[in-house]
Amino acid sequence: MVPLNYLVVTFPAQGLINPALQFAKRLLHTGAHVTFATAGSAYRRMAKSDPPQGLSFASFSDGSEEGLRPGIDVEQYMADVEQLGSETLRDLVVTSFNEGHKFAGIFYTTIVPWVAQVAHTLQIPSTLIWVQPATLLDIYYYYFNGYGDIIRNLGTDDPLASLHLPGLPPLTPRDVPSFLTPDNQYAFSLPLMRVQFEVFKEEKNPRVLVNTFDALEPGPLKAIGKVTMFGIGPLIPSAFLDGQDPLDKSFGGDLFRGSKDYIRWLDTKPEGSVIYISFGSISVLSNAQNEEMARGLLGSGRPFLWVIRKDKEEEGEGEQDQLSCMEELEQKGMIVPWCSQVEVLSHASVGCFVTHSGWNSTFESLACGVPMVAFPQWSDQQTNAMLVENEWKVGVRVNTNERGIVEGDEIKRCLELVVGDREQGKEIRRNAKKWKGLAREAAKEGGSSDRNLKAFLEEIQIEANGH
Ligand code: UDP
Repeated sequence: MVPLNYLVVTFPAQGLINPALQFAKRLLHTGAHVTFATAGSAYRRMAKSDPPQGLSFASFSDGSEEGLRPGIDVEQYMADVEQLGSETLRDLVVTSFNEGHKFAGIFYTTIVPWVAQVAHTLQIPSTLIWVQPATLLDIYYYYFNGYGDIIRNLGTDDPLASLHLPGLPPLTPRDVPSFLTPDNQYAFSLPLMRVQFEVFKEEKNPRVLVNTFDALEPGPLKAIGKVTMFGIGPLIPSAFLDGQDPLDKSFGGDLFRGSKDYIRWLDTKPEGSVIYISFGSISVLSNAQNEEMARGLLGSGRPFLWVIRKDKEEEGEGEQDQLSCMEELEQKGMIVPWCSQVEVLSHASVGCFVTHSGWNSTFESLACGVPMVAFPQWSDQQTNAMLVENEWKVGVRVNTNERGIVEGDEIKRCLELVVGDREQGKEIRRNAKKWKGLAREAAKEGGSSDRNLKAFLEEIQIEANGH
């Protein structure tokens, strides 16, 4: 049989590239060939060393050298991605077809709903890979289907209000995704989400692949009758998950360059002793917040590995330069500009992750059994932090002061709770172990995520063959 060709398309951000690449590798295991396409700005930076057999890379245009970076005009950039991206992606598919490679399906991640429109005009089936928890998809769905005002205004009259949406855990005002709150600063976000949910309305049988697993979100995966969700996660390199492919040791598309010496440093530390701190690939903490972080870390007295990105190579030493207690920090811990996070979280010496609660970071931590201090910033992160603290009970969430800063003492308090000897910490660590086991169970051959993906692919193939 001739192998099927699939196209996987993603927005050029690390948090979308990583799960999309991992998904592409899953498709390879079914014997398919996969073309992975992201925007030129990211494609040029991506470390694309030795892709597995059957995977090839391509790019569409976003009209930008640098892509999504702090300080750019985000609205304009998003408009360019859509316009130029639609045109050049269409060309890519047509050229492929003319060269004898017809795509049997196009998969795309969140915030590029225009990919579905391109696929539609070319009469190729397309499917969204939702790279946030199912709970978030439900909240957006409810928002666009009757609950908009209730969600947007939650907490305006009563800061202690709590909202019970069908099939979901209760939401308090601080759990609502930031794109749905009245003070949302990103005007592009809501219209994009709206278009995505319009796509579902136009489809006869809308199906979404979700980076979660059945046991993690049994209610949310089934909350909406009109959209069928398939839990296919965690989308994490196999070596750090089910181990079925020990050579699969990285996502394979890093946009940042890390240092190499941190694993040797971690090797010298006792089991479960190190605090790992990272805020993902986009968020930048203010200097004042970094100072408080430093104070909290030093106050905890524990060794730490802290990622402070240098977003531009020419920034030289980067922001850590500005920290007042650099010498002391370097004695107690290590600061790096980037690392292989899945490798760090899998290291026995790591005992806690202070995270911005991006979904990949959260899910990677959960799958590696590392308890969290949730320190959410924007988008889905507030909701993810709530799930971590209230639903899965694998961490605690920080509180901010009246100026929106998380103080050093608060960071120290949370660290003590998670890694200390109190019963709450012990329970958090027991839960972390439990979820690690369940995540691996779901991902392995015959596990729920493996079965769900196979069932989905079978369904679309039957439809394509007209049976
Ligand atoms: N990551 C990494 N090294 C780092 C920081 C982050 O490899 O030093 C990876 C991390 O493993 C995750 C992704 O970058 O897969 C970040 O995605 P997430 O959804 O957590 O956050 P975002 O960057 O989208 O805010």
